[in-house]
Amino acid sequence: MDHFTYKNRTLHCDDVPVPALAEKYGTPLYVYSRKTLTHHLKQIQAAFKPVDPLVCYSIKTNGNLHIARLMVEGGAGCDVTSGGELFRALKAGCPGSKIVFAGAGKTDAEIRMAFENDVFLFNVESEGELDAIAAIARAMGRTANVALRVNPDLPPKTHAKTDTSVKGVKFGLDIDTVLEFAQKVVKNPHVKVIGLHMHLGSPILSVEPYRQGIVKGMVLIEKLRAQGHGINVWNMGGGFGIHYKKNEALPAAAFAEVIVPGIQESGCKLVLEPGRFIVGNAGLLVSRVIYTKDSGGKHFVIQDAAMNDLIRPTLYDSFHRIWPVASLPGFDAPEDFQVENAGTVKCDVVGPVCESGDFLAKDRYLPPLVRGDLLATFSAGAYGMAMASNYNGRPRAAEVMVDGGQHHLIRRRETFEDLIRPEIEC
Ligand SMILES: *Cc1c(COP(=O)(O)O)cnc(C)c1O
Repeated sequence: MDHFTYKNRTLHCDDVPVPALAEKYGTPLYVYSRKTLTHHLKQIQAAFKPVDPLVCYSIKTNGNLHIARLMVEGGAGCDVTSGGELFRALKAGCPGSKIVFAGAGKTDAEIRMAFENDVFLFNVESEGELDAIAAIARAMGRTANVALRVNPDLPPKTHAKTDTSVKGVKFGLDIDTVLEFAQKVVKNPHVKVIGLHMHLGSPILSVEPYRQGIVKGMVLIEKLRAQGHGINVWNMGGGFGIHYKKNEALPAAAFAEVIVPGIQESGCKLVLEPGRFIVGNAGLLVSRVIYTKDSGGKHFVIQDAAMNDLIRPTLYDSFHRIWPVASLPGFDAPEDFQVENAGTVKCDVVGPVCESGDFLAKDRYLPPLVRGDLLATFSAGAYGMAMASNYNGRPRAAEVMVDGGQHHLIRRRETFEDLIRPEIEC
């Protein structure tokens, strides 16, 4: 359920027709559904209710303050990966006691900032980081709560650029050596190893990696406890997949089914760090066709959203559904989109950026489009605006939140002045 539906052949977000939003706020435009955001958070909270988890919304997925605040108001904590994200989480009203801090390269300044704001948990990824945290904790007269992030060395499960639990990636401590490092800090009064962290990768469309992670984690937790560590937190990270194509994703309950029994057996508090599952299908990128052209045997739809707005297709070969905001008769559900049909044309949907890699979709069947038509790129809420840049001198898009029949701007469109603001005047 994502609250983006076609009514009388016009795409709506809740009760608001998308053309009205494009008219008022311009394009390219990110449109978010508030009801979808809260619905997804509640689904996770409900599925894992038997173990009363701390659900920490992954700020890096989409850090807009309005979205983060909505999550915090819904009872979530925050998962942050940098000082900047910690700043953002705090601005969104998240108490430090509900913030978990991940990342393979925390600087001393970031570690100090985390102590100053009393973050709940450091997810530690290397021996060097453990040493740095211990040293800073000692200097500040503090004790760090630490979860050791382990790389459980599982089979590949998603795109190589976002698989974080195969051998040879930079994330976490090797499962073979984690106990060695843990042994060294058993008696350190400034570092309390209270948990195990594993973020397996993203997006994950099967429960199998979680099942295997639980098995490997359980063994580790027992060994850590035997070393004398009071392990009482198990952070399973994020990674739950969403529908990008049709209905390929699993419900939160399916993941809960394999995770909850393990957590109960471990006696640990569960922490989850969902990002994509919450915001991915809650966001739409709306763009307007500038030109169409035929060249090199292909039909190109050139529209005003580009790789600087949504880099996922370029970076991860990702598939996003794309369909005109004004649909064809009989085409009003995602299942109907992109089918080869008498009424559709095979095309590449590209942007204005000077890169051959600037595309949103390739070889898709879309209804014939003309200059001025609006397009919707679906499932763009996660890692869309979060990874947007100013490449090619393009101001970043505006973001708008829709709730029922209401809509309001949650980030204004950048101006040309914004593009040069941090530069020293010459
Ligand atoms: C990116 C990230 C997440 C969020 O992943 P999703 O797939 O968006 O749920 C959670 N935890 C860590 C440590 C991450 O790096």
